[in-house]
Amino acid sequence: MRTPFLAANWKMFKTVDETVTYLREFCALTAGVARAEIVVAPPFTALRAAADVTRGTNVGVAAQDCYWEREGAFTGEVSAAMIKDAGAGYVIIGHSERRRLFGDTDEWVKRKIGAVLASDLTPIVCVGETLEERDANQTLAVLDRQLDAALDGLTPAQVGSLVIAYEPVWAIGTGRNATPAQAGEAHAHIRARLRGAFGQEAAEACHVLYGGSVKPDNIKDLMALEDVDGALVGGASLTVPSFFAIVTGAGRSV
Ligand code: PEP
Repeated sequence: MRTPFLAANWKMFKTVDETVTYLREFCALTAGVARAEIVVAPPFTALRAAADVTRGTNVGVAAQDCYWEREGAFTGEVSAAMIKDAGAGYVIIGHSERRRLFGDTDEWVKRKIGAVLASDLTPIVCVGETLEERDANQTLAVLDRQLDAALDGLTPAQVGSLVIAYEPVWAIGTGRNATPAQAGEAHAHIRARLRGAFGQEAAEACHVLYGGSVKPDNIKDLMALEDVDGALVGGASLTVPSFFAIVTGAGRSV
């Protein structure tokens, strides 16, 4: 049975001090949450501070991206090994903002996942269609293309350990949710694709999150969907009361 998984993507928000203040308050609240995997992704600059504050708590730390090389002349990049050294346990890979604004390709996503796994970190792999692709009835084909590229060459055990986030691009930061039917269809499709390529055990073990304008008032409906194991939350994770309400709202057996 998969534990509900709630991940906060802070994007380019919060200084080191703001990160520490948030996490002290947040971890005090989550100490009473028995059955959930909770992860917060601050900017790179605050990773070490976040790891220090959350040590010994039930809150994990994720980076928002990484480069696939271990070290070298790659100005501005940060490797998975460096992220691990900073104390994080997870890395978000292939977020639509990376794909759209910074040119991350399916091939890059695959390489980054390989680097994250090689550093013994857990990738949180984002997939999802644009509005144009949905309107053109391409949603499932886009998910297949992104998944096939991202997971190419992985073992069933590696796939079972992954977190995949289905994030329809048109629902991110827009206040517009996928309907339960749309989210349910995409999640069931992802699970079936994993089952077909990597087997039942891997498909059942892998967490598949929904992302896109998740809020305290819609988390329950999303979690009621059979193949939704949690959420990747942007805007609504930036304040403690809001993200904590999402964590508690997600509390169910999945
Ligand atoms: C995200 O950044 O992954 C996201 C889903 O953002 P928001 O919750 O703000 O739509």
